[in-house]
Amino acid sequence: MIVSKFDEHSVFSQLDAFGHQKVVYCSDPSTGLKAIIAIHDTTLGPALGGTRMQPYKSENEALQDVLRLSRSMTYKSAITGLNLGGGKAVIIGDSRLHKSEALMRRFGRFIENLNGSFITAEDVGTNPRDMEYIRMETKHVTGIPESIGGSGDPSPVTAKGVFMGIKACLKEHFGNDSLAGKSIAVQGIGQVGENLVGLLRNENAKVYISDIDEDRLRQVAQKYGATAVANNNLFDLDIDVYSPCALGATVNTETINRLKCSIIAGSANNQLADEVVHGCMLLEKGIMYAPDYLINAGGLINCYSEIAGFNKKKTLQMAENIYDATRRVLQKSKLENIPTNEAANKIAEKRIEDIRKIKASY
Ligand code: NAD
Repeated sequence: MIVSKFDEHSVFSQLDAFGHQKVVYCSDPSTGLKAIIAIHDTTLGPALGGTRMQPYKSENEALQDVLRLSRSMTYKSAITGLNLGGGKAVIIGDSRLHKSEALMRRFGRFIENLNGSFITAEDVGTNPRDMEYIRMETKHVTGIPESIGGSGDPSPVTAKGVFMGIKACLKEHFGNDSLAGKSIAVQGIGQVGENLVGLLRNENAKVYISDIDEDRLRQVAQKYGATAVANNNLFDLDIDVYSPCALGATVNTETINRLKCSIIAGSANNQLADEVVHGCMLLEKGIMYAPDYLINAGGLINCYSEIAGFNKKKTLQMAENIYDATRRVLQKSKLENIPTNEAANKIAEKRIEDIRKIKASY
């Protein structure tokens, strides 16, 4: 008998709601492995996404996370113009207590069995060493250390993409993309933030920085000639660009009301506390928002380059394409009077549909 209706919390109902192609549950009692691999869409290419390890409270929480994250990867690859689909994996467990060589290698065997339809990389709770273990069992893993032939640290490429995103916004807003004399506040000067500060200062931008790590803040300010400010004061500065490069949800009702900038463009994931509410608020207030998942795609580009065998120069050139992609999003947003995050989603969906059609012809 074919069952046509499922409870809305059933696995099949959730897969339908998100539009996933395949979800694989991986279990291995001998190593304690409990993982879920979600392949959202492979129209553009193999599904690529990191493996996250977290002590989820329930299987359903892990499933929801992997479904949401893998779908985001489909959009990210599509808008960036890469020939990759969207996927993600989660391992249920505490990465400090439950991780072992055997567990990671067993997980690698599961990936190998997917015959290249899923490629993984590092994410929250996993590190380059884990990728090396996975690599022992499958070649379908990327973001491995440079010392063993991988692409290494993605941060300089991510910073380059954010930099190009900022320039694209300046071009749309001011009519030229010169950074000279423009003021930019970078929140979080970690791996990406510091590289970004360097790029901005090279073009004579006035840069303000903030970070919870005060020693680092002092060092980076001195190294690049940037102005250190207390974290909470960042939102009251009279600046051109706010660049969130630390953590998510910093663009919310309270901060939007305080911000005096004309552009928001940074590397942090999930910058808008609520995609719909705050996307619309920014549109109404006339603040140009460069969608985070587009301009922080340098990390993904770095992984793609590793798979394709491109060198660093070519990888950085690919990150420069973020300039045109951002301009297309901003122009669509203006033309249709819709939030930029919605414009980006529409462009990504159209690319997938267009390529789906051409693939149907052979
Ligand atoms: P990181 O950990 O190296 O740096 C984050 C910095 O933010 C640290 O210096 C930390 O002290 C600071 N910070 C933390 N909380 C803060 C707060 N409340 N206020 C101010 N500063 C705070 O991380 P990263 O690799 O530079 O990544 C930065 C952001 O960009 C993250 O959200 C990450 O998810 C996202 N991202 C990074 C990459 C990449 O290639 N590294 C790719 C895509 C997205």
